[in-house]
Amino acid sequence: MSNTISEPPLELLPEPVLRIGDTRVNGTEGGDYQHTYAATGRPTATVPLAGAAEIEQAVRAARAALPGWRATPADRRRDALAAVSRLITEHTDRLSRINVIDNGTPLTVALAQGGMAADLFAYNAGWADKGGGEVHETWPIPALDYSLEEPYGVIGVIIPWNGPITALGQVLAPALAAGNCVVVKPPELAPFSALAMAELFDEAGIPPGVVSVLPGGPEAGEALVRNPGVDKIHFTGSAAVARRIASAASERLVPLGFELGGKSAVIVFDDADIDTAIQSALAGISVNLSGQGCINGTRTLVQRGLYDDFQAGLTEAVGSITIGDPMDARTTMGPVISELACERILGVIDTAVTQKHGRLVAGGSRLGNGLEDGYFIAPTVFADVDPQSSLAQEEIFGPVQSLIPFDSEDDAVRLANETAYGLAGYIHTRDLGRCHRLAASLEVGDIWVNGGFGIPASVPFGGVKSSGYGRIGGRHGIREFMRPKNVWIAL
Ligand code: NAD
Repeated sequence: MSNTISEPPLELLPEPVLRIGDTRVNGTEGGDYQHTYAATGRPTATVPLAGAAEIEQAVRAARAALPGWRATPADRRRDALAAVSRLITEHTDRLSRINVIDNGTPLTVALAQGGMAADLFAYNAGWADKGGGEVHETWPIPALDYSLEEPYGVIGVIIPWNGPITALGQVLAPALAAGNCVVVKPPELAPFSALAMAELFDEAGIPPGVVSVLPGGPEAGEALVRNPGVDKIHFTGSAAVARRIASAASERLVPLGFELGGKSAVIVFDDADIDTAIQSALAGISVNLSGQGCINGTRTLVQRGLYDDFQAGLTEAVGSITIGDPMDARTTMGPVISELACERILGVIDTAVTQKHGRLVAGGSRLGNGLEDGYFIAPTVFADVDPQSSLAQEEIFGPVQSLIPFDSEDDAVRLANETAYGLAGYIHTRDLGRCHRLAASLEVGDIWVNGGFGIPASVPFGGVKSSGYGRIGGRHGIREFMRPKNVWIAL
């Protein structure tokens, strides 16, 4: 049966403009971008892109708004963010459909991400009125010494295309709760969700200039990093771009927060619940954004005794994925983001086959049968993968899973840690002692044991090594956007 892709509801899209303070800017220095729908490859809307001039204008608007927002009583900041949360909930359906148009995420996943964003604003609204500081002991001279937790000022926020609504919730909610103003640069590949969120900030009564949203490309991002009016940069994206940002930031020593990519291991021991473990490996290359998620488990290490059964089970499970129209609630896997991404991922698969990085046991090609105009790649599994190959080491950001056998617990830990990245780890075992030993020895920021995946707003999230530094979520997330100022009063 041929697949049919429904027409995306373009009438839901927000006005394609830059939202700078209380002005809406069209004709820009950055030119225009023709956005396309990943499921059909057809154009959706033309979006103006920010150039350095518009970034400068937005930073000025943020600086002008800063004294007022900082001085806003904590309860009013709290209520404004709670209002954002309520509005996101009210508009989740529209926002989620816009997210689908942005990047081809299946609607069910986009709806869940909308829910996460609403929750992030509700949770962080609760921090807005719990600031303050601490009083310290002093010696040998008696004094009253206290520290105040202050916002940085203006935060430059650079987000990727793969989860725009969640990324905004994770960063903007704590940044605003702490009393900062933000200038947000979403990428041209997925500009609409952030613009739609900006409408909700207005509706919630967040004053003009506190949040500006300017879709743009790398030049706009660089202009934001270099702008002296920006007090901190929070970047979510690839390690390669993070290195460029760190280099530019070093010129004016602006502080950075980095949420970067990963090559996370799913570690499956002989005693694991095999079905749960298979779902974990499957999620890494399907429902979780067609393998385009920073935290996806894309290297699956399986203990030798379970290896053959696991491989057979995973290749069979791949056949159960419903690939197709992202707007259809039955779809569990959508396209990848662009034609360029399609070609790049197919190139990685081709290299892995010709250089014998592993044995291709499922997928490996672009999908047709009604899907040929979109950017659909079959969920792909390689078995017996060389752990040192580029297939096992580099972030592919596409639906490609690598299976690697191991013998002992020590082997599993060594293989899991033998990567430049350190974002997530997924452990599958019924041995409680082993869970704790692995949790202590894996070089990552986030660990999930035996499935049940979730990232509630209350937990710290972030990476180590080339997966970044800093944390979003929980108490750590709000601290990311505040810094202490110490005050000594001689007695
Ligand atoms: P990317 O690094 O190519 O781009 C991210 C953002 O940086 C975009 O807005 C882009 O326009 C901007 N940018 C590009 N060059 C720049 C420069 N020189 N200066 C300033 N800004 C610049 O990443 P992507 O392809 O959009 O997203 C995929 C990457 O993001 C993956 O590596 C993924 O793992 C990572 N990611 C991480 C998390 C996390 O929370 N850890 C979440 C989502 C995505």
